[in-house]
Amino acid sequence: MKKKNTTKSKSAAKKIKENRKFIFVIGGVISGVGKGVATSSIGKILQARGFSVTALKIDPYVNVDAGTMNPTEHGEVFVLQDGDETDQDMGNYERFLDTTLTRLNYMTTGRIYQSVIERERNLEYKGKCVQVVPHIPLEAIARIKKAAEKARADIAVIEVGGTVGEYENILFLEAARMMKAAHPDDVAVVMVSYLPTPPKVGEMKTKPTQHATRQAQAAGIQPDVIIARSEFPLDKKRREKLATFCNIGPHQVIAAPDADSIYDIPINFEKDKLSDILLLRLRLNPKKRKSNLEVWKKFVHRIRSLKKQVRIAVVGKYFNTGDFVLSDSYISVIEAIKYSAYEMGKKPVISWLSAVDFENKDKLRELSKYDGILVPGGFGERGIEGKLNVIEYAREHHIPYFGLCYGMQLLVIEYARNVLGLKDANTDEVNPRAKHLVIDVMPDQKQKIKEGHFGGTMRLGSYKAILKKGTIAEGTYGKRKVEERHRHRYEVNPEYIERLEKAGLVFSGTSPDGKLMEIAELPRDKHPFFLGTQFHPEFQARPLKPHPLFTEFIKAAIKREQKKK
Ligand code: GLN
Repeated sequence: MKKKNTTKSKSAAKKIKENRKFIFVIGGVISGVGKGVATSSIGKILQARGFSVTALKIDPYVNVDAGTMNPTEHGEVFVLQDGDETDQDMGNYERFLDTTLTRLNYMTTGRIYQSVIERERNLEYKGKCVQVVPHIPLEAIARIKKAAEKARADIAVIEVGGTVGEYENILFLEAARMMKAAHPDDVAVVMVSYLPTPPKVGEMKTKPTQHATRQAQAAGIQPDVIIARSEFPLDKKRREKLATFCNIGPHQVIAAPDADSIYDIPINFEKDKLSDILLLRLRLNPKKRKSNLEVWKKFVHRIRSLKKQVRIAVVGKYFNTGDFVLSDSYISVIEAIKYSAYEMGKKPVISWLSAVDFENKDKLRELSKYDGILVPGGFGERGIEGKLNVIEYAREHHIPYFGLCYGMQLLVIEYARNVLGLKDANTDEVNPRAKHLVIDVMPDQKQKIKEGHFGGTMRLGSYKAILKKGTIAEGTYGKRKVEERHRHRYEVNPEYIERLEKAGLVFSGTSPDGKLMEIAELPRDKHPFFLGTQFHPEFQARPLKPHPLFTEFIKAAIKREQKKK
């Protein structure tokens, strides 16, 4: 039996298209050392050498996708163009590589088991005993290859979630081992590890990384490169120590001290010649392709040189977890604000405000010190009344307001309550018994909720919208047809549209059939910027291509800041 499996695994792994290369990124010592950014940065430096690069993430969770996970536990849910609800690292890959990824680029333990079981039920294993090994790693390998093929990538960078030595990701390390064993020249492994400097000891320690390397070796994997994450720069002595005890050359250890901005990382990696090392390891001639990171370097330089600030308040509910404040839950929103501020020559100062605090109306005055207020997407009841108070304050005090998804639905509720006078206006999500459900569940969602089918069933992914002539939305995009990513179950109730419009609210973007309201705004003569989108524009903002709506919001915020002076 064992022999047969080995033969099968080899032949499956053999189908790698000639010249296609794979780099696995694994983690050592602790989680949260920046494996996602390291993966994105590796992709970036190889892209800068003229290769077509794609990136994949393997999450060890049993959840089929990230859509059912709480953002305070898992960070933001990043929605792909095709509607897949994925890990926030996918957002980093798209932003660093300026690319659009598909559901093939994301997998979880749950997703892999689901398809193996489905195939078993369909007799696709032709009567064989289907086993955890090799069939689970083989399924992962098949997906990795398919994703690389679909992206027509020369190089695929694959991030394996978790750290070496834990139970959960062992099957994915096995997938890396199998691929590397079958194609030693086409597969490289990078371990992102952590070197602590205990304050009382005052010395950077390599021992945990040595142990992590042993754990990787026990799984049959020798890292080709170790990225040494640490608070301080790595010195020669520790570099040599790692080389001696981890079976690699000192030049294969990449220093990765904490950086001011994640966008510095590709440049920092190249200081230790990481792309050269990887290309040599993968039998690609580094002399043939010069690195061109100039545009990226200019972008990073620009960030550094900014002096004047623009102050943005993000009012949300997923900020507090125990004694810590988590901004990871809104990472795409935060990055989108940054790109637009950078473009406008300002340093963004982002404050995270907890919505529940504003249930007390006395607190609202604090908002006047900000140049702009943003309410991002969200779910459920907590903090809703606080958010509504914030939106009312922004509208009445002419503070630029940008509402994303829930932030747009709440804009509509606030307008219905305080301008239209429908005092108990609400969303079905919060109070289904309210008399005026100006935000209601979408008809096709009712059945799904009734049957308890919650995973992957929202209105997800990219949809077209048509913009109304002469509106802020149309002027900002500079076109009438746009495509944006969605993630919602509720929508503006068609029964209230006419009344809301009569009261002055403009629905400046709708679905092509005119049925779904995609953008709501107040005309410029009424408010400097009061706009909400049913979609999530943040998912399409890229470092060098900021999103026009975010830029328009930032422009309005800058104007307010200048007026204050
Ligand atoms: N909870 C709202 C809905 O499902 C908004 C979702 C969101 O903000 N992503 O429609």
